[in-house]
Amino acid sequence: MKIGAHVSTREPFSEAVNRAADIGCECMQIFCNAPQRWNPTVIRKEELDNFKELNSGIKILPIVVHGIYLINLASDNPFYYEASVQSLIDDMKKSEKLGGIGVNFHVGSTKGKSFSEVLTKITSAIKNILAATPESQALILENSAGAGNIIGDKFEELAQIIKAVGSDRLKVTLDTAHAYASGYNLVTTGGLEDTLGIFDKTIGLGRLVCLHLNDSAVPLGSLRDRHADIGDGYIGKDAFKNIINHKLLKELPGIIETPGNKGKTDIDSIKILKELRK
Ligand SMILES: [Zn+2]
Ligand SMILES: [Zn+2]
Repeated sequence: MKIGAHVSTREPFSEAVNRAADIGCECMQIFCNAPQRWNPTVIRKEELDNFKELNSGIKILPIVVHGIYLINLASDNPFYYEASVQSLIDDMKKSEKLGGIGVNFHVGSTKGKSFSEVLTKITSAIKNILAATPESQALILENSAGAGNIIGDKFEELAQIIKAVGSDRLKVTLDTAHAYASGYNLVTTGGLEDTLGIFDKTIGLGRLVCLHLNDSAVPLGSLRDRHADIGDGYIGKDAFKNIINHKLLKELPGIIETPGNKGKTDIDSIKILKELRK
């Protein structure tokens, strides 16, 4: 498994490549828009070109763009719904320009409605995004740590969206902390097999393009999204060793999005994972 991190794209944007290289990334994830703002970030064409050019030498691949946190493709509010679609279109176009594989994002919240009530809304948003963006780019659904209204905590929900859209460009990221918080026990060998079995039966492992390697600060099934540094949470190093070396997962990129709470830096976490890699 290639190991990488979510890397800052503060200006100058293209410097993200060097930042990733400096901490030992073999693959990377970035924001192309400010995650808590609706209005798109202007990135000069020159900076996108520089990024691509720089990385054509360094080759930190694949690159995954993470969509903004405000996205809700199930929103009842016409402004937020349309802004979500436009933000993902913008990210997909930027991803293509800088040499990324596509945009990973959180689908959103039903805000109290049933999943089946909002499915059509989500499906039509995704179809519009795919139609407006380059064929080379994947739209990547991330599993969530969702309590109640959050969409995508159960693989079955993501599978229903994928089935309803019917596009090969729709892919999935599996976040280990989110899966664990949603009740998928990746910690035991049997639990990991069961989880991958359910994933394959519902979504299909062929759709899995990325792992978010985060330990969980909350116990199994807590339904809360609290990342811990690798080895400092309930998932633990032994489980990560199984995950990153698993025959069905080891060809995927693994991205850390961990907080560095106990004085651990991304350099430390990447090093730990590389040491666990066989
Ligand atoms: Zn995410
Ligand atoms: Zn998370």
